[in-house]
Amino acid sequence: MSAEPSVRVEDKLFYNRYLVDAGRAHIKVRPHSKPSPELLALLKACPARCYELNNQGQVEIAVDGCIECGTCRVIGEASGDIEWSYPRGGYGVLFKFG
Ligand code: SF4
Repeated sequence: MSAEPSVRVEDKLFYNRYLVDAGRAHIKVRPHSKPSPELLALLKACPARCYELNNQGQVEIAVDGCIECGTCRVIGEASGDIEWSYPRGGYGVLFKFG
């Protein structure tokens, strides 16, 4: 009996490629002094780990690795904490299938 090989999300994400639209982030965190519970949830909810805390305790995003899954849209746009849109045509994630 052979065991299934374990695959980590990070290993699979490594195969994706991104065309970064420099200076035009498609997701923005609204300015805040103290993050809401929804913003803090994004630190763990984003599968690509695009969200992080800065030294001032505020949530920031680096969209370069975003896989456009929409998780943060559900959590953060509904609460008014982020602005979410798809990247311009031709930019963003390039999925590799197979
Ligand atoms: Fe992360 Fe998905 Fe939001 Fe992109 S759309 S920043 S991958 S949660």
